[in-house]
Amino acid sequence: MSETPSETPKTPEIYKCCDNPQITYLAPVNINVDEKTIGTVDVWRCAVCKNIVGMPRIGDDEKWGVIISKLQKGKDKWKLVKLKQNGIIKFETIDEKILDLKIEDYKIVDDFHTSFLVEDHLNRAVEI
Ligand SMILES: [Zn+2]
Repeated sequence: MSETPSETPKTPEIYKCCDNPQITYLAPVNINVDEKTIGTVDVWRCAVCKNIVGMPRIGDDEKWGVIISKLQKGKDKWKLVKLKQNGIIKFETIDEKILDLKIEDYKIVDDFHTSFLVEDHLNRAVEI
């Protein structure tokens, strides 16, 4: 590493998944309500280390997931999140309440919320 100023744009921190990252677009995951697409998660992957990458950076022990709220409607029903294998995720609702949701094996366990992993639904639409 050097501090030499340079005109070359720096690779964002996000792309440092391995020593020689080659980020390519992998697939979209569409989020549907009543067969209408209300949102899309664009999935990018490093061709070298095969990690799914995105913004913001994700930890090695986390996966990209989508939380679905049964309490909300339309576009507010889903949210892209980072899921750990087990533990608690702080989930902010649209009325700015913070809920503690339990995660078991990368899945939300809760009466009013479910989740799925983005990597399990590449190139597919998910009806929520
Ligand atoms: Zn990589």
